[in-house]
Amino acid sequence: MTGIAVSLSRGRGHIRTDRGRAVVVARCPLCGEEHRYDKGAAGGEEIELLRQVGYTDEWLPCQADLPGNFWRIVIVGGRQGGKSDAPRRVRRAKGK
Ligand SMILES: [Zn+2]
Repeated sequence: MTGIAVSLSRGRGHIRTDRGRAVVVARCPLCGEEHRYDKGAAGGEEIELLRQVGYTDEWLPCQADLPGNFWRIVIVGGRQGGKSDAPRRVRRAKGK
């Protein structure tokens, strides 16, 4: 396998709907700013796929002045079903 070693990062974000557009909003781990990526029409194919997959399939460019820096957004929250890795209050069944 060949390839250029680039620093690839990951961040967490969520899907927002803004005037009929689906937007992924997330804090960039590279520059620390919040970026928004337009993902087409709300309810459109692109955003629905993203919802299903749970993360951006493509590497997204940092929108700050950091050329060549790409990252991936893992969608948190708003996912139906599946398991959540968010710490939940665990009810312990007490003794017997
Ligand atoms: Zn950034």
